[in-house]
Amino acid sequence: MSQDYKPTVTNASVQEQFEEYVMPTWKSLNVPISRAEGCTVEDFDGNEYLDVFSGISVTNAGHRKEEVVEATKEQLDEFIHGCTYLHPHQPAADLAEKLEAVTPGDLKKSFFANSGTEAVEGAIKLARKYTGSKEVIALEMSFHGRTLGSLALTGNKAYKNDMAPTINDVAHVVPPYSYRCQLCDGGPCSMDCAEDLERVIETHTSGDLAAVVVEPVMGEGGIIVPPGGWLERVQEITHNHDGLLIVDEIQTGYGRTGEMWGVNHFDVVPDIMPQAKGIANGLPLGAFTAREEVANAFESGDHLSTFGGNPVACAAALATIEQLENGIVENAGEQGEWLTSQLADLEAKYDVVGDTRGLGLMQGVELIDPDADGPRGVAPAPNADLAKRVGKHLRTEENIIMGVGGFHGNVMRFQPPLTISREDLKRSVEALDESIAAVVDI
Ligand code: PLP
Repeated sequence: MSQDYKPTVTNASVQEQFEEYVMPTWKSLNVPISRAEGCTVEDFDGNEYLDVFSGISVTNAGHRKEEVVEATKEQLDEFIHGCTYLHPHQPAADLAEKLEAVTPGDLKKSFFANSGTEAVEGAIKLARKYTGSKEVIALEMSFHGRTLGSLALTGNKAYKNDMAPTINDVAHVVPPYSYRCQLCDGGPCSMDCAEDLERVIETHTSGDLAAVVVEPVMGEGGIIVPPGGWLERVQEITHNHDGLLIVDEIQTGYGRTGEMWGVNHFDVVPDIMPQAKGIANGLPLGAFTAREEVANAFESGDHLSTFGGNPVACAAALATIEQLENGIVENAGEQGEWLTSQLADLEAKYDVVGDTRGLGLMQGVELIDPDADGPRGVAPAPNADLAKRVGKHLRTEENIIMGVGGFHGNVMRFQPPLTISREDLKRSVEALDESIAAVVDI
């Protein structure tokens, strides 16, 4: 990659500008980016990084995937804006038709927004319009976005600091977090977390249930994979109470789990399915797709977005899906299987690795303090400080960008472009191994 197109820009100069002119909520910015290709990110000082986080799980087809770039340029030469409400256009029409084909079961009609949080909020409005009910239930430790409606659903106070909605019709149920299960107390899975939904509906709601919103694998929560049967039971309870099941595929979708959708690992077809992140390989786009009967509850003008369904983003999305279907999702499945076994070896090797888990190329490594009790004494204490140091060592010594997150801030997140080669994946696992060894006793 060439570095000569902005010779005066350095990492320090970009960071200084951010410091001066951008609100400090961006402050965790750690690798300034000047160019990116495939699984490689380059900064302004000429350093190259192996990216195993994809800009938080977005560039699923690889940074600047050639076919996506081409499709984007072609649309730029035609027209850049045509609000879908005023000007129906071909890229949105084609993408909607494609989503009918690739989404599960009888999901049929889509609405296009600009981001994940917008897709979630639109899905809630649609559920309310269709059911005529108001109340919504989500999971503790969930993440659904940062605008006020999605923030109300998000079951994590870390995102709400002094900004939480004061009035809402949202209740939360316990998450299906086997490693730290609040209900099974370290014993065999009782599936009481699914049954908790029944309890919460009975105790927290007035019985006016519009929707239950879940992630099939909880991303920001710490790559939490529910036990088999959980999602099916959650859907059953939701439908028994006349609510709709909204499955948030914003992070799990577009091949991330080794299937096109996270729900494909379960025997469930959502009623409404929000999507974003990987949808257009980096161009801003969100969508939600619903069964026809549900979708038709939106009458003309009920919901609208000036930029939503931007033709350039839609063209990029169509090219992205084509590429994903052309072997990339399959690669995610194959590499993910290999990664699972490698991470299990790390769990056996280090007592600071409490748990490893995930599906496809959405895998987490939970770091702990083996000598201290965790919340309610179910598992050892989460070790966020260690995770932070491992992440920094990976970045500064190994030139690898890996996610650090989870509800307790102690989960290393592997979410690389789904095009990643075995060689690069091996390099990232070895680097994680070396980084844990290097910082664990400091
Ligand atoms: N839902 C899930 C499951 C997510 O992981 C995210 C973002 O991380 C969102 C919603 C919000 O998406 P956005 O940041 O595009 O608003």
